[in-house]
Amino acid sequence: SLLADKIAAGEVVERPASIVKELVENAIDAFASVIRVEADEGGISLVRVMDDGLGIVREDRETAFERHATSKIQSDRDLFRIRSLGFRGEALPSIASVSELQMTTTAAGEDGETLLYRDGILMERKPAAPRRGTDISVQKLFHRTPARLKHLKSVLTEAGHISDVINRMALAHPEIRFDLYHNGKKQFSSPGDGRLLNVMRHVYGPRTAAAMKEFHAQNADFEIRGCAALPEHARAGRSYMTVIMNGRFVKSPIVTRAILDGYQSLLPIGRYPIICIHITLNPSLIDVNVHPSKLEVRLSKEPELSTFIKEEIRKLWSEARL
Ligand code: ADP
Ligand code: MG
Repeated sequence: SLLADKIAAGEVVERPASIVKELVENAIDAFASVIRVEADEGGISLVRVMDDGLGIVREDRETAFERHATSKIQSDRDLFRIRSLGFRGEALPSIASVSELQMTTTAAGEDGETLLYRDGILMERKPAAPRRGTDISVQKLFHRTPARLKHLKSVLTEAGHISDVINRMALAHPEIRFDLYHNGKKQFSSPGDGRLLNVMRHVYGPRTAAAMKEFHAQNADFEIRGCAALPEHARAGRSYMTVIMNGRFVKSPIVTRAILDGYQSLLPIGRYPIICIHITLNPSLIDVNVHPSKLEVRLSKEPELSTFIKEEIRKLWSEARL
């Protein structure tokens, strides 16, 4: 129902950056290799995500805007067992229920089509020029709920949240090219050549990237891979430590603690390293008590993972400082 969509929207659509996250995740699920994101006024007046993915076939287009029509999982643990990032089937209906949303999509062997939704109601379907993939524009966000609109922060703050989302997505997916524009100006671009170090260069700058070491290690339970900056490039905040688990950005105090322990006494007081770590593990090791929306995970072999990471990071610096 429309009411249920609007209630769900309260959870899914907190701010423009949450729309960006959901639309980009859908593009990734559709096997896009290039994803272009445009935002105007911090995403408050426009969020647009264009991809070159599979598109949506004609008969699935309206279904995609029906709540739970597409739910793919039975439990939270399934979340880490499947490749796809989407699982609740509520992003599109939620976003459409609080905005004006236009989607143009082309699936292989079909013509293009544009669908226009206003406050969750389908207003129009019309033919469009075929263009590989899907192009979704979201405008007039929260125009029917001024109280929600008022909760949004400044353009600069909202634009910053969008940048954070795109940086994380690019770090999680070095094989995908991301382009981010704000008010028509290019803000960020990642090459999409599959190399994490090259994404790091675009996120943190060439000087920092030049001071990075790549690492890769594997045992029976875990594979870890990543880039870590020299201790002297440490920054005054934990937000430069990015943890990707089975392709998802997560918050893991256990992992960040292990990284800090790995740097040992090399970090100045109150400083944190610039690092991105990809952890791949058997999904059965991930505790069922995960909160996907909060991005928090718990593992059944936390001490083992912790030691593994700590040792690898420690080795990195003992090798670096011969
Ligand atoms: P979920 O991602 O949880 O399945 P969403 O509401 O985010 O639910 O999307 C609904 C469905 O619409 C998806 O399952 C997918 O089939 C389709 N879809 C959405 N965005 C895209 C896209 N960019 N490319 C291809 N299909 C898409
Ligand atoms: Mg989705």
